Amino acid sequence: MNILQTPIAYLKGVGPARSDLLNRELNIATFGDLLWFIPFRYIDRTVIHTIRDLSPDMNYIQLVGRIVSLETAGNGNNTRLVARLRDATGELELVWFQGHKWVKESLKTGVDYLVFGKLNYFNGRYSLPHPELEIYNPKEIAELASALQPVYSSTEKLKTRGLASKGIAKLTRTLLDTLENQIPETLDDWIIQRLDLLPLAEALRQIHFPQNVEILEKARTRLKFDELFFAQLEILQYKTQRRKFSKGHVFHGVGPYFNEFYHNHLPFPLTNAQKKVIKEIYADLKSSHQMNRLLQGDVGSGKTLVALMTMLMAIGNGYQTCLMAPTEILAQQHYTTFTRMLGKMDVEIRLLTGSTKTSERQEILPGLQEGKVQILIGTHALIEDAVQFSNLGLVVIDEQHRFGVEQRARLWQKNDVPPHVLVMTATPIPRTLAMTLYGDLDYSIIDEMPPGRKPVETRVLTDSHRLQIFHFMKQQIKMGRQVYVVYPLIDESEKLDLKHVMDGYESITREFPLPEYAVSIVHGRMRPQDKEYEMERFKKGETQIMVSTTVIEVGVDVPNATVMVIENAERFGLSQLHQLRGRVGRGADKSYCLLVAGEKLSNDAMMRLRTMEQTNDGFEIADVDLKLRGPGDLNGTRQSGTEQLRIASIVEDNELLYKTKELAEKILNADPHLTHPANKRIATAVASRRKDHPLLGMIS
Ligand code: ADP
Ligand code: MG
Repeated sequence: MNILQTPIAYLKGVGPARSDLLNRELNIATFGDLLWFIPFRYIDRTVIHTIRDLSPDMNYIQLVGRIVSLETAGNGNNTRLVARLRDATGELELVWFQGHKWVKESLKTGVDYLVFGKLNYFNGRYSLPHPELEIYNPKEIAELASALQPVYSSTEKLKTRGLASKGIAKLTRTLLDTLENQIPETLDDWIIQRLDLLPLAEALRQIHFPQNVEILEKARTRLKFDELFFAQLEILQYKTQRRKFSKGHVFHGVGPYFNEFYHNHLPFPLTNAQKKVIKEIYADLKSSHQMNRLLQGDVGSGKTLVALMTMLMAIGNGYQTCLMAPTEILAQQHYTTFTRMLGKMDVEIRLLTGSTKTSERQEILPGLQEGKVQILIGTHALIEDAVQFSNLGLVVIDEQHRFGVEQRARLWQKNDVPPHVLVMTATPIPRTLAMTLYGDLDYSIIDEMPPGRKPVETRVLTDSHRLQIFHFMKQQIKMGRQVYVVYPLIDESEKLDLKHVMDGYESITREFPLPEYAVSIVHGRMRPQDKEYEMERFKKGETQIMVSTTVIEVGVDVPNATVMVIENAERFGLSQLHQLRGRVGRGADKSYCLLVAGEKLSNDAMMRLRTMEQTNDGFEIADVDLKLRGPGDLNGTRQSGTEQLRIASIVEDNELLYKTKELAEKILNADPHLTHPANKRIATAVASRRKDHPLLGMIS
């Protein structure tokens, strides 16, 4: 067994109680976990600030001083313990909101403390909330081997058990001493030399107790390299395996349906980007391997047409094909678009959703099994067991992020030979993220908009502009245009959300009364038929205003709509805002997006709204989004791999990410199974990682 897998309880100074706590609070279960529990910063122990010279822009500071008073302030839930700390130059407050009793009992007056904490500046006063204190010992500091002391994140619970940052540092020190030279190297020597990396053991030692800043930087690089490199290796290995083992249906040409459509029914010339992507897809379909391709394109770039034409290739080759959409409205819309575009052609196309009538289902299902239905469009209903195809050749998944990995996997199983799969994203995701999350998929990008698109003009407004907003809506409606007004999901409670949107609806109908105006409403609580009916009325132009919750968010296509009003815009994420804005600007007329936000906004919210004002480019927006949010919750279920990154960041370590990918590709090209002696260590490390994530092989 790898020594790093030893349970943490066996480390001197830990024991069962602390090991439980480490496990629960910090997810540290083994020696290896503790070793990879990276300090989030370092304090230079030799730098001591003075209170007089503090400035509001300082972050973590270190002071030496005495406690001159100690009192409890506030009451009820709001009690806090306040200590005044005095040094030779002034005073400031140390504040605790929890754990008062313990702090109060342990603080002494009349001794010098070394105090470390994050400086807080409010109303012209400095304070240090929940600082770390120790009795000041100048001699100890002078004798330190390194001035840089690690700071680990900890929790209140751990702190009461002596496992604040310092306690953790002590354990780490013990661990490094225990392990001595038993930390296995993961990279073969030629890589270490070629890239001038620190050996792993050295890097792990230096990351916790760095001798100096330069070596700390090298340690960081080495550890980041390990994380990214092995993640890339895994992804790529999986990809080659999938390609090798999964035979795919071979398409022998684009087929008669594609040709007829292309030559006789194409509603507009394809953009060059659409052509390029269709060629890439076709190349996959011709090869004898299963296609697993991610299709990225900005909102409105014309992904649907690409999907349709790909599906025509499938039926032209004698296969069935299905398109899976995340909502009923979207499925319905795709169905309408497809039947319209294919109107003059003889294609059997059906719609299957949760609200399809039983009688109709009873007709569709056998039709599928017998192979009569050629194109099936639907929602999640498509992955029910009852839905059985005769020979499914291609699956297209629209607005992918709402489908879990597992749901997709179930579609694969519907045939002996897996169908080809085309996944289309709703809004762009940054390249680096795509590489990490979908690195096992092939990748196509539509990087060009259909001609004649005018950028949507975007404005951030507040409630005080209400009258102008109404006035503007009326002007546009007078010109024959239509307007969306969208309300956010405020919280988990559907009731509250409903109230919110209903209130909005009421005030809109008051301002835009019948018979001059007609207002539609769509929200999550309505029956699917009713939603459809309202959508249909809006599409046909029978209503001028569509009031809705975010059910409207993805994909809906009403080219005559030119105004998108988003209420409580600060509550939406960037990609959601971009997706919503994409509902307008689809026709020839100039379009507008009005973001109505509160007066007081957080910095992040402000940044999101300003970004919307400044750019219409989905890829640019995706980059900002990634920076603001981190990769954490960008894309549904697929991020487990990146959440495990403990030191590397796909936002900041772009360059290293590309470098590791390149190297991983090179190695696997030359030695696909890592059997060459030169890659012995890598192979061992990969094998031991596999044991840690047995699920990885199942992700598709
Ligand atoms: P998305 O990529 O967001 O799914 P759609 O496929 O809904 O975008 O396309 C957006 C709009 O652009 C639709 O109204 C569609 O008919 C139109 N469109 C698609 N391709 C072209 C093209 N090559 N030329 C002109 N309009 C196009
Ligand atoms: Mg779409």
